[in-house]
Amino acid sequence: MSTAAPPAAPPTIPILSGGKWTQSKSTRTSDVFNPSTGQVIAKVPLCSKSEADDVVKAAADAGPAWAATPVVERARVLFKFRELLMQRFDEVARLVTREHGKTLAEARASVQRGVEVVEFACGIPSLLMGQTLPDVARNVDCETVRHPLGVCVGITPFNFPAMVPMWMFPVAICCGNTFVLKPSEKVPLSANFMGELLTEAGLPPGVFNIVHGDKEVVDALLTHELVRAVSFVGSTGIAKYVYEMGTKHGKRVQSAGGAKNHLIIMPDADLDQAVAALQASAFGCAGERCMAGSIAVPVGDVAGRFVDRLCEKASKMTVGPTDTGAEVDMGPLITAAHRDRVAGYLDVAQKEGATVALDGRKDLPTSGFFVRPSVVDMVQPEMQLARDEIFGPVLSVVRANSLEQALAVGKKCPFGNGASIFTNSGYAARQFKQHFNAGMIGINVGVPAPMAWFPFTGWNQSFFGDLHVQGLEGIQFYTQGKTITTRWFATAAESHADPIWRSK
Ligand code: NAD
Repeated sequence: MSTAAPPAAPPTIPILSGGKWTQSKSTRTSDVFNPSTGQVIAKVPLCSKSEADDVVKAAADAGPAWAATPVVERARVLFKFRELLMQRFDEVARLVTREHGKTLAEARASVQRGVEVVEFACGIPSLLMGQTLPDVARNVDCETVRHPLGVCVGITPFNFPAMVPMWMFPVAICCGNTFVLKPSEKVPLSANFMGELLTEAGLPPGVFNIVHGDKEVVDALLTHELVRAVSFVGSTGIAKYVYEMGTKHGKRVQSAGGAKNHLIIMPDADLDQAVAALQASAFGCAGERCMAGSIAVPVGDVAGRFVDRLCEKASKMTVGPTDTGAEVDMGPLITAAHRDRVAGYLDVAQKEGATVALDGRKDLPTSGFFVRPSVVDMVQPEMQLARDEIFGPVLSVVRANSLEQALAVGKKCPFGNGASIFTNSGYAARQFKQHFNAGMIGINVGVPAPMAWFPFTGWNQSFFGDLHVQGLEGIQFYTQGKTITTRWFATAAESHADPIWRSK
């Protein structure tokens, strides 16, 4: 008889409400996987509506004192948070890798992008300054100042477990709001770790809260009378739903959705540079990026050479578990169901008459959720491969005869997140940046994702709302302006003349 102890059940992770970590009372849970092995590493509670209500109330209770905390002191807490993030940088990155599956190098890069948002938010005393105009009318001065909104909510996707939450809460908190994060139930561990670091940084209880769950919690947050603003990042269908539901209930909503990003390769491009950039863009993070290149559009006679060279390079990429210490080029997808959906697109491609030039369903690791880099050539713009967001390492190639035809491919696309051109022609680059139907444009850049100081300006079905995350738009989103008009009359005893004009 074996004496070995049975394997410990995966722990159910807590929620953070009003500064206290507590176990949810919900009996509903969801599995958190290590996608590299397929093992369940934790359970996440799917909280109830009433638990969401409690968390929002805790955030509202903490609001007045936090909003009254001098902005310089609020910034200092964020400086301390940044310091802790840097000290524990590798732990955060490893956690991202463990629950998401991206390589450690990719996880580090993503955490670094989040840190940059914290650095941006640390400049809040300058960023929050208003505008003043003395003498806008006779004896009248006018000024605009920015006030916090109240309780802000962030609902985040699985693909960047630390970075996307950091697009939101550092800015919201620095502006004087309190925050409730509802992380993706697929990757809740990194979010909880950041909650611990914020507490250690000295953030007062209730300023940052975490509630885990699914639609029940999301709906409770979207309709809660104390919630003032909602930031959402996720797939287009849910982004639209969140935008409509949130605005219907009087919230300010910024809601970023899915994408289908085009990368145009002109005949005059440096082909080695373009292929390397396309490879990183399409297969980095296993294609699970909203800014991943998913349609290559080679123009003219470069197409054959481009496809051959890309397939040759992509076929040599090492694919495997990302948490063993062994270096690989690409990790797994998030779940078994998503792996099957992504791999299924290669069957769809064959049925639609496209050519699978590189089939990523071969030689896969025996456990975990893997698909290797795949390239589908001869895709037509009306095919499913060109229309659906696949969100995996499957690059479609739509061949075009001219730049105009390449621009037309983009015009038909319902999404509008990112797009890039590879060229040595200033004219082609200019035409592309002026006319391509997307909000974030790259010129000889594979992933034109803006850094923290610039807004993440998705268009069309890739974004619902007005003010995007990041940059000054983020500050505007998390504050409301107040404009003050002042008139003071001089008394008889007071001089009307300004002393600097008075002659001696
Ligand atoms: P998702 O839409 O499935 O989930 C996002 C969030 O919504 C999660 O927190 C989830 O719990 C919640 N949710 C899911 N179903 C819901 C429902 N029916 N009602 C209410 N809430 C619900 O997205 P995902 O699969 O986690 O993430 C991948 C998607 O996110 C991709 O489409 C990707 O393009 C997109 N994304 C977009 C950006 C951007 O900036 N545009 C950035 C990152 C990811």
